[in-house]
Amino acid sequence: MELVEESPYRFRIDQHDEMRVPGVVFASRSLLPDVHADKSLEQVVNVATLPGIVDASYAMPDVHWGYGFPIGGVAATDIDTGGVVSPGGVGFDISCGVRLLAADLDRSELQPVLDKLMDGLDMSTPRGMGKGGLWHVSGRSGLAAVLTGGSRYAVEQGHGVARDLERCEDYGAVGDADPDRVSDRAIERGGQLGSLGSGNHFLEVQAVDHVYDERTAEAFGLRTGQICVMIHCGSRGLGHQICTDYIRMMEGAMVEHHIRVPDRQLACAPVSSPEGQAYLAAMAAAANYARANRQVLGEAVRRVFERVTRRGLDLVYDISHNLAKIETHAVDGQQRQLCVHRKGATRALPPGHPDLPADLAGVGQPVLIPGSMGAPSYVLTGVPGAPAFASTCHGAGRAQSRKQAAKSVQGQDPRRQLEARDIAVRGASRRGLAEEVPEAYKDISEVVEAAEGAGLCRRVARMVPVGVVKG
Ligand code: 5GP
Ligand code: MN
Ligand code: MN
Repeated sequence: MELVEESPYRFRIDQHDEMRVPGVVFASRSLLPDVHADKSLEQVVNVATLPGIVDASYAMPDVHWGYGFPIGGVAATDIDTGGVVSPGGVGFDISCGVRLLAADLDRSELQPVLDKLMDGLDMSTPRGMGKGGLWHVSGRSGLAAVLTGGSRYAVEQGHGVARDLERCEDYGAVGDADPDRVSDRAIERGGQLGSLGSGNHFLEVQAVDHVYDERTAEAFGLRTGQICVMIHCGSRGLGHQICTDYIRMMEGAMVEHHIRVPDRQLACAPVSSPEGQAYLAAMAAAANYARANRQVLGEAVRRVFERVTRRGLDLVYDISHNLAKIETHAVDGQQRQLCVHRKGATRALPPGHPDLPADLAGVGQPVLIPGSMGAPSYVLTGVPGAPAFASTCHGAGRAQSRKQAAKSVQGQDPRRQLEARDIAVRGASRRGLAEEVPEAYKDISEVVEAAEGAGLCRRVARMVPVGVVKG
């Protein structure tokens, strides 16, 4: 794999063989994936062969191997010239994302009731692989309003306040969702609304320990010392089933549309084809399910928080990092309608973008970047003129597979190690925690530094973990 260093945080993979555009990897030298251990840069090359892809096949500094597309990958296709949409470019956990709430409370004030708060959060958060969630909605007719209305519907039903929607991507719901495009099996798996899931998904109490930009932090409602709650989860079994269903459908569609890809996992169809449209409508339904899921979980956190601390929680933002969106961007000086795939990548709108609510127009979109249960997390914002269709990283990114991580900490007690560092831990099996140890992830500070150095975004605030509820 030939990588040309264009600038300190930008590497290019020149176009070769079937590639329609070059590959661009935003990373420092030390963050670049080891090509022998991780095939993600090969995946960047594969994605560059997709019909209609424009500009480049991008990798963010947290890139690592994923299904077909790398996690930390961004690819946009031109809809009017046969550009495709690929379920693998969104991922199995459709609209997985992060919600951040901020309390009017400092770390020192929380300390005396921290244990009580953690126990409350532990008890009120359904998690694990199983069925059931906080909001009992099921069946096609029960779920229809969730699949079209997302957080907006959740708020209408009493799960939150109207202001929350101002701080949600798409004001809480993606348009063009069609529940009729969702299979019976996916609907059956939909009875998990208001549940965290397992593994990498979490609910974390954090404290802001550094502010890089006072003015922007203030506009986001953040200040040094402040307590926040971060929630990371997605569309659960429903989204997973939709991804599975449409990969199968796209495998057939590729034959019909004479599309050839170097890896079966890149199964795709033209955005404007019936198959492409059906996938996008089902994907939007799953995205709304994920939004409603985070809304309901966030509301449950609020209730526990108010009971234990007598303080409220304001929503800072809710943003997904696994999604395809139809957006308009300039390509070679022309405005084009693109299908932007962000898989393990976060949209980062710059100041002045028309999709921002009025009170954020001057500062840009909050970009929420979790680190790990033993490392800081960050809030960033978008910058004008950024490359990669206003996108950035979505986390630290895995440095070790789950299996490797579990093996590398054999004989250790991850829970005790975190508690020794004053990080409270609830939930998760010993094995589950072992797979998620901080060492399993890249260095988050290095990742956000590279993202900023590459001109993708800008740091606003850093938070450290106080207590984590692991899925
Ligand atoms: P993914 O969406 O790829 O599963 O995970 C996103 C990111 O979340 C990971 O790359 C990792 O940096 C971060 N992460 C995973 N577990 C935790 C956790 O328990 N706490 C925090 N703060 N971040 C985590
Ligand atoms: Mn997820
Ligand atoms: Mn995620």
